[in-house]
Amino acid sequence: MENKQSFFWLQKILVTLVCFAGTLGIGFMILIKPNASKAQNSSDIDTNSTTVDVGTEKRVEQLKTIMLTTWGKEAQAKGVAIDVPSRLQGVIISQVKVPAKEKVIALTFDDGPWPESTAQILDILKENNIKATFFVIGQNVKNNPDLLKRVMSEGNAIGNHTWNHLYRFLSPQAATYEVSSTEDIIYKTIGVKPSLFRPPGGIMTNGVASYAKNNKYALILWSSDSVDYSRPSVPRLIHNVFRSAKPGGIVLMHDGGGNRSNTIAALPEIIRRFRSQGYRFVTIPELLLMDNYKPKHIVKK
Ligand code: ZN
Repeated sequence: MENKQSFFWLQKILVTLVCFAGTLGIGFMILIKPNASKAQNSSDIDTNSTTVDVGTEKRVEQLKTIMLTTWGKEAQAKGVAIDVPSRLQGVIISQVKVPAKEKVIALTFDDGPWPESTAQILDILKENNIKATFFVIGQNVKNNPDLLKRVMSEGNAIGNHTWNHLYRFLSPQAATYEVSSTEDIIYKTIGVKPSLFRPPGGIMTNGVASYAKNNKYALILWSSDSVDYSRPSVPRLIHNVFRSAKPGGIVLMHDGGGNRSNTIAALPEIIRRFRSQGYRFVTIPELLLMDNYKPKHIVKK
């Protein structure tokens, strides 16, 4: 009887243990299962999101190409960049001999795009319905792409002014980089490659001008220097512009590279005075493509 009783208890304990183990097992499964399914899900999500990323990247690239083509077409339609005629490729031009009836002048702005001052100059040009030419620095285009887009969309012409604006003598590789990387960033920003080049400081001997000449750029200097980089007073700056202004001339000013408040302050008066003298304003491409033009100052071909 006692044995039967203890057997019964032993059975009871065993059943309890089996049940406990079973519960634990199910519990484990419950615990593990969600994790497993979570892992499965997250790997699903990862796979999906990778698929989405690849798709998005592709779409972004397609969109970029479409935008670039659109901008490029817009830029070409607006004459922002021209195919320089072969007779002007590699030619250095500081002014153009224009027919007597054509009293034209080209305003040029260097060293931008520059926060604030480029936009202020664009505002003044727009108010006066004038288009100018901007010789831009590659690293500034990289930092201010929207400003370059605005320069383009308002019909101004754009030229290459190197990446770093260096005066010192450069190795052929460094000179190539200065010009070609700027060309690339302009293309990536507005969809056209520039065909006009202005060497920093007008320096023709440090390597960048030679590279540009050999790569079919027209090299654009100036006939009238505002000397605004040395920040003269507004009346002095205006005087500098008009001292050597002439029909077919090219005026050098700066929208970037430093404080340009004097240039901005002088610009409306410069425009007013040119107009009162009967001038109209053209971009460098317009100046180069004018009928009967003859580049007057060909230094070298
Ligand atoms: Zn410059």
